[in-house]
Amino acid sequence: MASTAKRLDGIPTTIFTEMSALAMQTGAINLGQGFPDVDGPGSVVERAVTALRAGENQYAPGIGTQPLREAIAAHQARHYGIDLDPATDVVVTTGATEGIAAALLAFVDPGDEVVVLEPYYDSYLAMIAFAGGVRRPVTLRAPGFRLDPDELKAAITDRTKLLLINTPHNPTGSVLTRDELQAIADVANEHDLLVVTDEVYEHLVFDDHEHIPLATLPGMFERTVTLSSAGKMFSFTGWKIGWATGPAELVRAVLGAKQWLSFSSGTPLQAAVAHALDEEPGFYDDLTRSLQGRRDQLCAGLAELDVDVRVPEGTYFVTTDVRRLGWPDGDAFCRALPERAGVVAIPAQAFYDDLEAGRHLVRWAFCKEPDVITAGIDRLVAADLHA
Ligand code: PMP
Ligand code: GLN
Repeated sequence: MASTAKRLDGIPTTIFTEMSALAMQTGAINLGQGFPDVDGPGSVVERAVTALRAGENQYAPGIGTQPLREAIAAHQARHYGIDLDPATDVVVTTGATEGIAAALLAFVDPGDEVVVLEPYYDSYLAMIAFAGGVRRPVTLRAPGFRLDPDELKAAITDRTKLLLINTPHNPTGSVLTRDELQAIADVANEHDLLVVTDEVYEHLVFDDHEHIPLATLPGMFERTVTLSSAGKMFSFTGWKIGWATGPAELVRAVLGAKQWLSFSSGTPLQAAVAHALDEEPGFYDDLTRSLQGRRDQLCAGLAELDVDVRVPEGTYFVTTDVRRLGWPDGDAFCRALPERAGVVAIPAQAFYDDLEAGRHLVRWAFCKEPDVITAGIDRLVAADLHA
């Protein structure tokens, strides 16, 4: 039997696949993987249908269709005052997942160190490894999950090539403040580092918190690739249309890698996402308002259990500390949960190198319909969750 390549050694099956399979097998309510249970705007679906019927079914240009690149550039200008040339400063990717892969393959040589916020989105771990890079996590520590600028500075060595940032941050729900972003910018500028910033939850920010794109800080545009995705912005996670933006030279490098991953991304869906960006900007504001209510609903329900709840500032997710229930290990808790309560959640330790920092943390998704959240809470409250 053929043996697998060494690059797969130590790369686990993604926890999202594992836990969603567990939800299917057990019939549990899935508060694990972050996908909404209601699709995005009908007009956007109709635009995709029209594109399918009108013969927009052959390869798109690798860089993305012109209408979508123009719509992405217009979005960045409208929301953040970022001036992009759609011809050179935007590349469409097959979800942000491909943007992450292409950016890391484009910029990281074997042995290069990548400083990454921990807990980290799990594809970062795999793609840093595939690129031959070495990850240097900087931990956002519970319970506040803030960035410590001294820990960031201490992670930099003469082999550091790139900072991989994520704000709003999955899984903690932290939205990096201007001061935290400035600390990142200071380090990047001082050490002349490239930055890849994953901002897929850019619009999903609650209360008076504000998403500030890292690329808008002084000196940062020239060294930053920004990633986003229609999956989170418009509740079409299954469409896998994302994008990378930044200065032409960096975008060209991302495209240089992307062309050998997928060559190009789904043509009719690009037409639909261009329509979404241009014509449905109200969607993500409404989504954020409704998500904030569902965040409050889930947090209030979790607070009825014997767990510490950290109310998130953005994203789809709330993180809890389950130690008071007698579980030092969130993974064991999550694996027992379907049988105990008929609910699935995600053990956040999958996103840590520093197990001590994350062992006890469990992530719950609230991008679900209110009655699904209610049913989940009812099950949790009725169950005996103590170890
Ligand atoms: N980055 C983060 C932080 C995510 O949570 C996700 C999941 N949506 C992705 C990237 C992947 O995005 P996509 O589904 O567009 O590939
Ligand atoms: N981003 C989603 C989450 O964090 C899941 C995406 C995936 O399953 N790869 O739950």
